[in-house]
Amino acid sequence: MTVRPSDQPASQALFERARSVIPGGVSSPVRAFNAVGGTPRFIRSASGAWLTDADGNELVDLVGSWGPMLLGHAHPEVQAAVQAAVARGTSYGAPTEPELALGEEIVARTPVERVRFVSSGTEATMSALRLARGFTGREVVVKFAGCYHGHVDALLASAGSGLATFAVPGTPGVPASSTALTLVLPYNDRAAVTAAFAEHGDRIACLFTEAAPGNMGVVPPEPGFNAFLAETCRAHGALFVSDEVMTGFRASRQGYWGIDGAVEGWVPDLMTFGKVMGGGFPAAAFGGRADVMSMLAPEGPVYQAGTLSGNPVATTAGLATLQRATDEVYAHLDAVGTTLKDAVTTALTAAGVTHTIQSAGTMFSVFLCDGPVRDFAAASRTDSAAYAAFFHAMLDAGVYLPPSAYEAWFVSAAHDDRAVQVILDALPGAATAAARA
Ligand code: PMP
Repeated sequence: MTVRPSDQPASQALFERARSVIPGGVSSPVRAFNAVGGTPRFIRSASGAWLTDADGNELVDLVGSWGPMLLGHAHPEVQAAVQAAVARGTSYGAPTEPELALGEEIVARTPVERVRFVSSGTEATMSALRLARGFTGREVVVKFAGCYHGHVDALLASAGSGLATFAVPGTPGVPASSTALTLVLPYNDRAAVTAAFAEHGDRIACLFTEAAPGNMGVVPPEPGFNAFLAETCRAHGALFVSDEVMTGFRASRQGYWGIDGAVEGWVPDLMTFGKVMGGGFPAAAFGGRADVMSMLAPEGPVYQAGTLSGNPVATTAGLATLQRATDEVYAHLDAVGTTLKDAVTTALTAAGVTHTIQSAGTMFSVFLCDGPVRDFAAASRTDSAAYAAFFHAMLDAGVYLPPSAYEAWFVSAAHDDRAVQVILDALPGAATAAARA
């Protein structure tokens, strides 16, 4: 059964109001349910694994604000730390101890030696790109199709025609000149990387990759792929930028680097972080090698700044979150993830729905197509209509999945047996709905 707008009068009324003042009624496109149809739920409050929408429905949340809510919503100790921070004033435009402590925590967990705070993942990647260009004195950036690095002009690029050709803008409003220095390659394709560096190596400032892509669904790097990228960059004097905005402090305690880099021995020159490290507030960061980071103003000549960067409330929330993101938390995410993946497989198999589930540490996603899915072209084969039916059946049964077929499902430390049971109970009916779509 598909949700009809009139089923949720309060969300419907708010959405109608919103559309007259906010384009599409939302502050970020995917929230609008365009990919799955229907009216987005307006959320009134959240606690633990649960959202309460404007009509008073309680929903088990598998979006987690698109990643940040690792501990669940309104964690009492994070709330208390935030309230105490707010009482001390909310922004000073001067250095503070919370940003320093969060920086130390990030340096302790990851291979970065220095870190600078910004307010969004987009700002982190934009700044890392400028720094890489400033450090190398080169201008070309390499990225992979299906990897999202925020809405930075140069990184909102689609593949041009043919291998190792420069990209075209991915959206109106991005000048062709902004993507003329961007090479877009197929993910997990070593030959394409080798060819691009062979042709343009001495002009390449950096290669950007998601440490494990989560923005085309979860597409883990094939064994040795990140190490190969790091080595290729090194051989050509380019910087290897590992974007861990989504995977950082989520895929594992040390992000995806802890699963892959720490084992395979690769170390990124620069990394970007966001989501979990902001504890649900607008905080993000980029960091890396001390010699590269020292090119940043005021130490060096590459300009980068922000009025609210390192905001004391946001960095307090991030620090309180990371301090509680213990090995037990990651073990719990793993266990809940395994339970859910098994149940999804059982339900979809019983209903005869072709599917593939892929994981990167504690992150996973469900593709409604056969696998393995190793790049964007393969991910694009997922059955969007079947996903829309699946999504709405789950929502009707009280489970809030990402309103797009290309997203990871995010569980939290607060997903307890009661929350998991609601999901398990919902799956067979949703699988049947997907089969009928
Ligand atoms: N990089 C990655 C890997 C992301 O997943 C995202 C956001 N989904 C971003 C960058 C951009 O972050 P933000 O939305 O905070 O600008």
